This record gives sequence, structure tokens and C-alpha cells, in this order.
Amino acid sequence: MSVKGQLFILSAPSGAGKTTILKKVMAQVPGLAFSVSHTTRSPRSGEENGVDYHFVSVEEFQAMRDKGLFLEWAEVHENFYGTSRPAIMKQLARGLDIVLDIDVQGAAIISRDATVPAVSVFIAPPTLLELEKRLRGRGTDSEETIELRLNNTAWEMESAPDYNYLVINDSLEEAVTTLKAVIIAERSRGHRLPTGEPIVLVNKT
Ligand code: ADP
Ligand code: 5GP
Repeated sequence: MSVKGQLFILSAPSGAGKTTILKKVMAQVPGLAFSVSHTTRSPRSGEENGVDYHFVSVEEFQAMRDKGLFLEWAEVHENFYGTSRPAIMKQLARGLDIVLDIDVQGAAIISRDATVPAVSVFIAPPTLLELEKRLRGRGTDSEETIELRLNNTAWEMESAPDYNYLVINDSLEEAVTTLKAVIIAERSRGHRLPTGEPIVLVNKT
């Protein structure tokens, strides 16, 4: 039996802890591939080209967009971000589950696209004050960037009810456990083992 992969879409306001949760879940759950997006924003310290993002110029991004190479793309916090359609199709064909870390605009586009099976998860911070604390505590962004990202939080949170699952990242450990449970439940719903492989039923006779 061939395994059919699916997409797991994750969105959150900046600083909610999505990347932190995702890194832990990816290390603990087998059979997940991360969709490496293209972006025009500059790399943060520690980010690697081709691993965290494909960092491209605005011209390169626009050329890809005009060739229809993005499954979805959006302008987020004044930069462009997009998901490569060929990369996703290749991984799905291999039976892999793919994790997409994308914003609420991109999530809405993919959720409307009947050609790709997707489950969506919204990660929310416990409070807005805690979100601001985390964003500042991360120490990777300028004051201007932090303010822009905080200003975008309210309308991003408005999309939360549209997602299949909501996870509050208060305790990191609990958020990781919940996201793992979502992935395992969705695999079981697709008649697959928690590891992602197909379940082969054995007859008693
Ligand atoms: P995002 O990817 O959603 O923008 P990050 O994963 O970069 O957010 O997390 C933002 C900051 O918050 C990081 O410094 C991270 O270590 C911290 N953080 C993440 N989850 C928690 C949590 N549950 N409790 C406290 N701090 C957290
Ligand atoms: P960051 O700059 O903090 O890495 O990401 C900023 C926002 O862009 C986050 O909400 C992240 O989920 C989103 N994002 C990252 N890649 C993509 C993508 O390919 N498409 C869309 N629509 N959003 C993305």
C-alpha cells in the first residue's frame, strides 16, 4: 500500500514560539519534512540559507512568482514569503508529511486549494504581554521590526478560529505534546501508524 503524505500548516503571531515548538516536534516525530520557504527578508544570525529559508532578492522572488512556481505567497511584515510548488509536490509524491510554517494569508490560500490535503494548526501566545516579552527576549529584531510585528498581531489572531486546531504555547512542553498528538491523530485518521506508515490489517483466519 502506498502512503499518502499530507500538509501540516502552522501559523502564529511572530514571537509565539512556533519555530521553537516545531524544531522539537520535528526532532521527535518521524516522517516529517520541513517546507523551506523562499523569502526576501535578511537572514537572522544563526539562520542558514537552504535550511531555514531560501534567501532571495526581490527580483528573484518576483521572477519565481511570475512563473507560477509558488503554491502560495504573501507579503508579511513588509517582506515577501512563498512556498515552492515543485518542492511540495515532490515531497508529497514521496509519501512524506510536510510541515509548513506560513502566515495566515498563505494558510487561507492552501486551505482553499483542494489539490493539496492540508490540516491547519494555529499557535497562540498565552497573553499579548508574554508575546511582546518573547519577541524582545529573542533579541533578533530591531525595535522597528518588533513594533511592526506586534502591530500585525491583532489581525493575525482574528484568523485563529478558521484553523482546524488551536494550541496555546504557555508551557512549551505541553504545546509540543499537543502538536505531536495532533499529528498522530491525523495520521490515525488517514489509517496510518503514529510513525506515518500505513496500517496493514491482519485477518484472524
Ligand atoms: P516564532 O517562531 O513564533 O516567531 P520563536 O520560536 O522564535 O517564535 O520564539 C520566540 C521566543 O520565545 C524565543 O526566544 C523562544 O525561546 C521563546 N519561547 C518559545 N516558547 C516559549 C515558551 N513556551 N515559554 C517561554 N518562552 C518561549
Ligand atoms: P519570520 O520572518 O519570523 O521567519 O516569518 C515571518 C512570518 O512569515 C511568519 O508568520 C511565518 O510563518 C511567515 N512565513 C514564512 N514562510 C512563509 C511562506 O512561504 N509563505 C507565507 N505566506 N508565509 C510565510
